[in-house]
Amino acid sequence: MGRELKSKVAIIGGGPAGCFCAYFLQKDFDITVFEAKSPLTTILPTGGGRCNLAHAEYDFRELASNYPRGEKFLYSVFSKFGTADTIDFFESIGVDTYVQDDLRVFPLSNSAVDVRNKFLESLECVKFIEKRVDKIEEDISGFTIVCGSNAYKFDKVVVAVGGHSGFSLVENLGHSIVSPRPSLCGLKTKEDFVELSGVSFSSVKAKCKGKTYLGDFMFTHTGVTGPVIYQISSIMAREKFPYIINIDFLADGDFDLQGLLNENPHKAIKNLISEYLPKSFAEFILGNLSINPDEKCHRINGTLRDKIIDKLRNFELTALGTRPDGEVVTSGGVDLKEVDSKTMESKLVSGLFFCGEVLDIDGFCGGFNLQNCWSTGYVAAQGIMQSQ
Ligand SMILES: Cc1cc2nc3c(=O)[nH]c(=O)nc-3n(C[C@H](O)[C@H](O)[C@H](O)COP(=O)(O)OP(=O)(O)OC[C@H]3O[C@@H](n4cnc5c(N)ncnc54)[C@H](O)[C@@H]3O)c2cc1C
Repeated sequence: MGRELKSKVAIIGGGPAGCFCAYFLQKDFDITVFEAKSPLTTILPTGGGRCNLAHAEYDFRELASNYPRGEKFLYSVFSKFGTADTIDFFESIGVDTYVQDDLRVFPLSNSAVDVRNKFLESLECVKFIEKRVDKIEEDISGFTIVCGSNAYKFDKVVVAVGGHSGFSLVENLGHSIVSPRPSLCGLKTKEDFVELSGVSFSSVKAKCKGKTYLGDFMFTHTGVTGPVIYQISSIMAREKFPYIINIDFLADGDFDLQGLLNENPHKAIKNLISEYLPKSFAEFILGNLSINPDEKCHRINGTLRDKIIDKLRNFELTALGTRPDGEVVTSGGVDLKEVDSKTMESKLVSGLFFCGEVLDIDGFCGGFNLQNCWSTGYVAAQGIMQSQ
C-alpha cells in the first residue's frame, strides 16, 4: 500500500519560534524550515549565554500582564500553552530547569549552547534549508517560497522571521506591520555622562511619565542602561523622544543627610556621600552643583544640602533615543488584529500562520519573550493540525 502523502509546511525562520512550531508538526507533516543563517543561533546570546527560557508565573493572565504589547491576545495563547508546558517540554528533550529567586527559569546546565544542541537533536524529522527567503507567493494551489532563483511549493506557511527583518514578506501578502521600534534596550541621553561610563547602582527607583520602576542602573558613554532602563524603554517603546526620567539613587534605605552632616562635621562631603554611592558619582554631582568635593561637612548649609538631596533623590535625565544594548526585542510587527489568537492563522490569507517576535508582541526581561515564541509556536502548530 502506498504511503499517504503528508501536507507540506514551510516555516520561514529557524529561530526559537519557528523551531518550536516545527517540533510539534514534524511527525505528521512534511516540514521544511528556511533559515537565512544557522538554526537556533539567536538562542545563544539569551540570558547572557544561560538562556532564560521562561518565567515561573503559572497563571496565564498574570503571565500575559508582562507584555506591554499583546497582553489580551496572549490570554488564549497562554491558556493553551503556558509556563508549566514549557518546563515540561524542555524536560522531555533532556533540558532540566531550575527557578531563580527572581522567578526566571534557566536550564540546569546554565548553557544556551546545551539548550540549542538538545533542541536541534529533537528536530530529527525536520528538513532545514539554509537560504534567505525573498518572497512568499500565494495562489489557489498553495504557496511558493522564492529564494533567489529557486522556488519551492508548499500547502501552508508559518512566518517566524523574528523582529529584525522579513516584514516585507508578509506586507507583500497584504498584512499590516505596526512600525518596529526597539524595546528592552539602553537609552541615549541629552546629558553627557562619559566620565561616569561604567558606574553602576543596584536597585534605584526611576520615575517616567507618572510610572515608577525599580532595578539596577548603569551609566554608559552615551547614556544609561540596566534592567530599570530596559523596563522604561519597553513601556515607552511607542512614545516619542525626548522624555524625562528621574532617578532616586537612595531608594534602598534611609538617608538623613542633615543628620550625617551633623555627625561628621570635619569629613569632606565627597567622602561622606561615597559611603553610600560610588565616589565618581559623588564627585560628579558635587561638580555639577559647583560644590567643592573637599568641602567639610560643617560648611554645607541648608541650601546646599537640599540641592545635594535633590540630585541624589531626583536626578533628572533626558532620553533622546535607544542604544543597541540589552535584549533588544522589537516592539511592533504583524498587526494582531489580522491574526486569529486561537490558531495563529492569518485572517487575511488562509493557510498562512505566524509565531514569535514577528508578531506585534513583546514582553519585559525575564523569560517572557521566549515564552511568547514557545506558546505562539505551539498554537500555530495546533492551528495547522486543525486546519487539515
Ligand atoms: C542579547 C539578547 C538576549 C536575550 N535574552 C533573552 C532571554 O534570556 N529570555 C527571553 O525570553 N528572551 C530573550 N531575548 C529575546 C529573544 O531572544 C527573542 O524574543 C527570540 O529570539 C525571538 O525568537 P523568534 O524565533 O521569533 O525570532 P528570531 O530569534 O529573531 O529568529 C528568527 C530567525 O529567522 C531568520 N530569518 C529572518 N528573515 C529570514 C528570511 N527572509 N529567510 C530565512 N530566514 C530568515 C533569522 O536568521 C533568525 O534566525 C534576548 C534577545 C537578545 C537580542
